[in-house]
Amino acid sequence: MKAFCLDCGNEVAAQIECRNELIPVKNEEYHVPVSVPVCSVCDAEIFVEEFEEDAIQRAYDLYRQEHDLIFPNEIREIRELYGLTQSGLSRVLGWGEVTITRYENGSLPSQAHNDILMLLRKPSAMLEFLKRGKNRVGTDEYTRLCRRVREVFPENAANLEREVIRLEGVVGREADIFHGYRRFDFYRLANLAVYIADRAICYKVKFMKLLWFTDFLAYKQIRRSISGLSYVALPMGPVPDEYRWIMSLLEEAGWVTVEPVFQFGERVLPAREANLDIFADEEKRVLESVLKKLGNASTERIVQLSHTEEAWHRTDRGERISYTFAKDITSV
Ligand SMILES: [Zn+2]
Repeated sequence: MKAFCLDCGNEVAAQIECRNELIPVKNEEYHVPVSVPVCSVCDAEIFVEEFEEDAIQRAYDLYRQEHDLIFPNEIREIRELYGLTQSGLSRVLGWGEVTITRYENGSLPSQAHNDILMLLRKPSAMLEFLKRGKNRVGTDEYTRLCRRVREVFPENAANLEREVIRLEGVVGREADIFHGYRRFDFYRLANLAVYIADRAICYKVKFMKLLWFTDFLAYKQIRRSISGLSYVALPMGPVPDEYRWIMSLLEEAGWVTVEPVFQFGERVLPAREANLDIFADEEKRVLESVLKKLGNASTERIVQLSHTEEAWHRTDRGERISYTFAKDITSV
């Protein structure tokens, strides 16, 4: 090859010699075979940056193997798996804009960053990081990524299904007076939830109350609830039994997204379209009348209204509310 020899002060022909060098990485040293260009005129070693860089990367690779660190191509694979750009992944993780770029170009990640990158191969971990980084990522991208995780990991979808079955078991498989004489059905609830989130500006608290009014009005008018949910009388009003679990499953399974809005609380937004075909006409009429009456009401107003209902007054705090009180519902 041709190279510039500093000693000769000239462009010269250079021979490539193979040598073994000791290259320091952090507090260690690694023996690495390196290519060294040597001037064919004066025998001096010639510095060529790409040869030097190549030697350092070989030493880094040995260090990575030794310390079980993630390799740059593995980071790229993870990123491409989720359809993320380098800066996109940095954003999900809350790192500096170019952090991932540096790691993919060969910089050694810190141990903490390395552990996180390794974790991302697990869909549950990816979902967790997505949740924590939702503000930075934005709602649309968050929804897309959650969907992507489910597509890439069918076993994750299977886990979700198992989770839904477990939830249905805990909320109740009985069609008794505490479920409005319908067995709790997550799929019906999910479609109801999406439809309500689509039609009304809903924050979490209002959303729960709208579900309650819908199920109780349905029971009052057609003798059966729509979702089969059981409701508990909490100080803030009636909420679905296991409502935290329900909200997180609705979100994880891609039915709704929950977006924090500064000073307003958490807004519930639809993440897909509702399938209304599963509801009977009389059920749709109940839903419409609740939305017409309370869809535009503020959270405070709805909480207030729920506190005027016998159903809430005559049930002990923390206890499940019997649908027998549905006949006395006056707010809808
Ligand atoms: Zn020379």
